[in-house]
Amino acid sequence: MEQRKRAYYNDNWFNFSDAVQHRDNYRCVKCGRRKGEIILQTHHKKYRKGLEPWEYPLSDCISLCKGCHAKEHNLIEPSDGWTLISIDDLGGLYGTCEKRGCGNEIRYEHLIYHPNWGYKTVGSTCVEYLTQEDQYLSSEVVKTLRKISDFVQNTYWEVGTTKKGNRYLYTTHLYHEIRIYGKENYYSFQIALKQKGVRWFEFGEFIPAKNKTLDQVKELGFIFLKEKITENYEEKEILRNMYKKIKP
Ligand SMILES: [Zn+2]
Ligand SMILES: [Zn+2]
Ligand SMILES: [Zn+2]
Repeated sequence: MEQRKRAYYNDNWFNFSDAVQHRDNYRCVKCGRRKGEIILQTHHKKYRKGLEPWEYPLSDCISLCKGCHAKEHNLIEPSDGWTLISIDDLGGLYGTCEKRGCGNEIRYEHLIYHPNWGYKTVGSTCVEYLTQEDQYLSSEVVKTLRKISDFVQNTYWEVGTTKKGNRYLYTTHLYHEIRIYGKENYYSFQIALKQKGVRWFEFGEFIPAKNKTLDQVKELGFIFLKEKITENYEEKEILRNMYKKIKP
């Protein structure tokens, strides 16, 4: 089975990091190798306490390949000042926690970053490097990712037919409906919202979901619907973010 991967990213970091790498023509400034040949990372030449990694002036940062980056760093791992960059749902225990002395198999891969050290991947129970705020965000994201995988794995879909005779799949979530039309790689979906006490649905536009598998379209539909109906502000933000990343 294909290993599914759903992620939440910190856009601030990705935008900042991309600006640095763009300036360096997407090459390691030490060895000159190019992104794609190697994994290119953004390195902070100095650490300024209290700043988020993306709040530094661009001139504080350079692009380095993973190998050259590792050589730039001291061997003493900082105990605070880590920032959460992304959380990936690997769909199973396919990851490994890199916190020293842990090594557990993990499902929710937390990529954390320190301007004085670089990247590291840890599990949901080893995120104590993070600030309180990031830990809270992490648990919100993990909760959301869990809801998405539960939905995809446990929801029963029925087959319907349009007036023109086209088949579609549909399911309901809290009275609202998600419909999926088309076939592998050419799917589109539609959300039908139901107001309390009203008998009819309010049908939204058809949203194309090209080059997606059926499970991916189910996820997209759920994320899109949930983002519309949730009243939890953090959850809305997280879902909107995920949708932006997964949609293209
Ligand atoms: Zn290099
Ligand atoms: Zn670095
Ligand atoms: Zn761990």
